[in-house]
Amino acid sequence: MIPLNKPFLPPQHEYQDYMNDIWQRNWLTNHGPLVKEFEEKVSEYLGSEKMVFTANGTTALQIAIKSLDLKGEIITTPYSYVATTSSIVWENCTPVFVDIDETTLNIDPEKIESAITGRTSAIIATHVYGNPCDVESIQKIAVKHNLKVIYDAAHCFGTRYKGEAIYNWGDISIASFHATKPFHTVEGGGLFTHDKELKKKMRYMMNFGHDGPYHFQGVGINGKNSELHAAMGLCNLKYADEIFDKRKKLSEIYDNKLNELPVQRPEVTENTIYNYAYYPVLFESENAMKSAAGYLSSKGIETRNYFKPSLNQLPYVDKAHVPVSESVANRVLCLPLYFDLTEEMIDIVTGSLEKSMLEYQ
Ligand SMILES: *Cc1c(COP(=O)(O)O)cnc(C)c1O
Repeated sequence: MIPLNKPFLPPQHEYQDYMNDIWQRNWLTNHGPLVKEFEEKVSEYLGSEKMVFTANGTTALQIAIKSLDLKGEIITTPYSYVATTSSIVWENCTPVFVDIDETTLNIDPEKIESAITGRTSAIIATHVYGNPCDVESIQKIAVKHNLKVIYDAAHCFGTRYKGEAIYNWGDISIASFHATKPFHTVEGGGLFTHDKELKKKMRYMMNFGHDGPYHFQGVGINGKNSELHAAMGLCNLKYADEIFDKRKKLSEIYDNKLNELPVQRPEVTENTIYNYAYYPVLFESENAMKSAAGYLSSKGIETRNYFKPSLNQLPYVDKAHVPVSESVANRVLCLPLYFDLTEEMIDIVTGSLEKSMLEYQ
């Protein structure tokens, strides 16, 4: 059995050391010393604005939308995890889907302007698979039309664009540290913004709006994270370089072995230091994808159609014409990629893939 994903775990005694300290202090949550330390160390590691550590990436996205007071229509990508769209709908805004670029699989900036109306308040784009969007073009459009920009950068820990953490782009960027992501805190998320006032507002919002014990700055929610999750983050941060080096090495082994097969790979944006967050391959047709996935599954190899369905097909959104996204969602398969994966296991995956594709033809 080769799973799709296996979360990285640090040596248990290293986590235990943090637990001993937590037991001594008996300070479990509410912006404790480990949460503070984690926020600082993440920003040091990334060279980014100081992060706000949240309960998860979805809450971060919802707080981001709320803090910017977005209304009406939000232009967004149909090719992402469901949380990108569901957060927009949850905050009572209407997602307007703009199709993706067929090489990077990110929102196509050339199609954004024709989707802007008098009701458009923002663009929420995903750097899908950790690969940067065309952030410069998106920025230009946003400035021209006075729109806010939020990046769903859930896949992006470790990705750098033109030498900088990709989280530095947009009015707000959000991170996810869910266990399935390359760098995780079990559950967790992050908010990044250059705007100090906005950051303050988001800090109030994620703590019920508390401004002291009996005074409230505004409406809030509970979006905090705990000392135990911060401890996992601090442990894992020590291994972050090792994790990303390993993912790069494994991805390159895949690249070499898949060279001869008729599968397409998304292109990494220029000037990017990529984090190898996933290993997606695109087949020529939905049937070719299904036949490969079925064969791999019969050999005990787990794969997944990240990201399916194309989000314009969710039952609670208006219809949209986004043929590239729909086509990609029907042909994509993510192959196993995680720290403990070995070259021998990749051999089994790619060997099986080759066999299934020969049989299919
Ligand atoms: C994982 C993910 C999220 C949600 O993050 P959680 O931390 O699981 O809430 C949001 N958007 C994208 C694109 C994701 O992959």
